[in-house]
Amino acid sequence: MKLGLCIWGVRTAWRTEDDGEFYCSDCGGDRAYHRRTGTRRLTVLNVPLLTRGPAGTVIECTACHRQFGAEVLLRPTTTRFSAMLRDAVHTIALAVLTAGGATGRAAREAAVGAVRSAGFSDCTEDQLLGLLAAIVADEGRFRRSEELGPDSFAEAVDGCGSWLSIELHEALEPLADHLLTQGRERVLLQGAHIALADGPYLPAEREVLEAIGRCLSLHTDEIDRLLTAAAATAS
Ligand SMILES: [Zn+2]
Repeated sequence: MKLGLCIWGVRTAWRTEDDGEFYCSDCGGDRAYHRRTGTRRLTVLNVPLLTRGPAGTVIECTACHRQFGAEVLLRPTTTRFSAMLRDAVHTIALAVLTAGGATGRAAREAAVGAVRSAGFSDCTEDQLLGLLAAIVADEGRFRRSEELGPDSFAEAVDGCGSWLSIELHEALEPLADHLLTQGRERVLLQGAHIALADGPYLPAEREVLEAIGRCLSLHTDEIDRLLTAAAATAS
């Protein structure tokens, strides 16, 4: 019987299907991975005889060789996550400026500062204003805030397929999935600080900030509380 155990065995043969980069929680950083599919084989004296079915797919870290389930690929790499955060702040800055802050120098400077510290270190005011001009030209409806009704910007952001609406949803919703509540609050507050740089919220700014909060999956009460607190601190 003992001899039998030594002779018979099941061995898993791994085949590498593809590779890429992922966040390895064991190494605590971005690493290369191999996606490997295993086949279990019955062996006799170490010679594979019969296929015993698939052993599943694993993601193997090329640095520490730990194997994970395929779901680890859903988590963005640190590099990807930084890019998502940077794009989110950039889009928020544009949205808030479009809602009414673009005419005030302080708001423009706050927007450039937020975008730079989010990772676009060479962002300039001219670039932001150039993008704003392009958005305005593209969308007749995004004019200066004074010309907007109280709900028109929020409607544009939430409802129809405007550039900013699409951009806000695309930039913020995937990010929201990977941020804890505190992180999502901080992203919203970056927008609030831009809006508050040149005085209290304009109605259109407040609307766009609420839309940003909803894209970040924050509750309405929470958005209200954060925006009110930010305004109280700023004044
Ligand atoms: Zn690793």
